[in-house]
Amino acid sequence: MNSCRTFLTKQVVPIISNTYKKTITTTSGKFQQTEAREVIESTECPKPLTFLTEDEQMMKETVRRLAVEQIGPYVREMDTEGFIKQPVIDMLFQNGLMGIEVDSEYGGAGCSFMTTVLTVEEISKVDPAVAVLADLHNTLINNAISKVGNKEQKAHYLPRLVTNTCSSFALSEPSSGSDAFSLKTTAKKDGSDYIINGSKMWISNSDVAGIFLIMANANPSAGYKGITCFIVERDTPGFTIAKPEKKLGICASGTCMLSFDNVRVPETAILGKLGEGYKISARFLNEGRIGIAAQMIGLAQGCFDATIPYTMERTQFGRPIYSNQGMQYQIAHIASEIEAARLLTYNAARLLENGAPVAKEAAIAKYIASEVAQQTTIKCIDWMGGVGFTKDFIQEKFYRDAKIGSIYEGTSNMQLSTIAKHIEKEYKK
Ligand SMILES: Cc1cc2nc3c(=O)[nH]c(=O)nc-3n(C[C@H](O)[C@H](O)[C@H](O)COP(=O)(O)OP(=O)(O)OC[C@H]3O[C@@H](n4cnc5c(N)ncnc54)[C@H](O)[C@@H]3O)c2cc1C
Repeated sequence: MNSCRTFLTKQVVPIISNTYKKTITTTSGKFQQTEAREVIESTECPKPLTFLTEDEQMMKETVRRLAVEQIGPYVREMDTEGFIKQPVIDMLFQNGLMGIEVDSEYGGAGCSFMTTVLTVEEISKVDPAVAVLADLHNTLINNAISKVGNKEQKAHYLPRLVTNTCSSFALSEPSSGSDAFSLKTTAKKDGSDYIINGSKMWISNSDVAGIFLIMANANPSAGYKGITCFIVERDTPGFTIAKPEKKLGICASGTCMLSFDNVRVPETAILGKLGEGYKISARFLNEGRIGIAAQMIGLAQGCFDATIPYTMERTQFGRPIYSNQGMQYQIAHIASEIEAARLLTYNAARLLENGAPVAKEAAIAKYIASEVAQQTTIKCIDWMGGVGFTKDFIQEKFYRDAKIGSIYEGTSNMQLSTIAKHIEKEYKK
């Protein structure tokens, strides 16, 4: 036993369990707060959050290169035309970026969740719209089928999802966004089949997706406990996908309305159990939110990286604009904010990988990262002056793309609500 451990076991905090209780004194008295932190049994110093495994580092560098070389040339064109070019989608599949965590048994790369986070971050530095395609596919659909699907479902869907078939996760509806579990789409039992009726709104990647996870209520009298997750194929009769919405940002990412008119699916299309759709959504949206946080830090870093060299080259009053202390303080502030958001995101990812509860940390990471992305892009445009306001430079696209971070996978208000609920629970104990 090292001297620190000897000291601690004798004197201070008994290393009792995998949670750490601390006593808090307030004006209304003393109470105990349990921190959801694993106590590391080993006395080895834990690694800093920014330390990556060799595999993670390799993936990060590979994705950085792929994004610059193979997405970069299409960014402007895809933003204007409103869809992701096929060579870009092919590149994601061919390089294993659409099956990052999927087991090698099904053709996936079998990498860590952190690898997905790094991939989304690196793609977002170049094009956040392409990042949404890889992000949702990996964090929501692949993970839900891998972790909740039965043997047949995994064998049937995963090999396609990792090689050539894009996917969508459909929860939101015209009348249920933040209040997602009040959804109206129904799934009525008919023999051994279910008949789905209703509509979904704002479904990302649905312009190109072949496989959909659809939340429908199979027992409306049970309220949200009737919500069930169905795996639905694009070509199922009665299932139609409208034209992509015209949006402010992430324009290349197709966001469409889906309609279900007596869509018949077999009972075997249920992912998990009947009535478990809300649990599946809540569970995988935690992973999804860390992915969106990664998208936002990548976006912020990409915009920052594109801007700082300009501030060092552009001269006013006979010297580079960067040399003004007023500029340097702003730039240093934004760099600090990006770093803080990155650490929150990586910490949430590592917690998730370690099986720790992550709902609060995922909400914090997404909330802060999307705020930081907005602030960064606003500031970058300011630092560029007039040219930052033109389409000749990429900053305006990053600025438009940043706005979605505080809306999808739960608005910023909803993240704050989640954080507040956790605080209430912790302090009421
Ligand atoms: C580009 C894009 C892509 C998307 N992709 C998908 C997808 O792939 N799959 C999917 O299922 N959905 C997707 N969505 C839907 C997205 O998750 C919802 O838009 C989001 O959850 C907000 O719902 P809403 O638009 O209905 O807004 P509303 O819920 O109507 O909210 C409007 C405002 O009211 C606030 N508000 C609402 N209730 C409260 C409350 N109780 N307390 C405080 N404030 C509140 C909100 O924070 C927000 O500011 C996408 C949306 C967009 C725009």
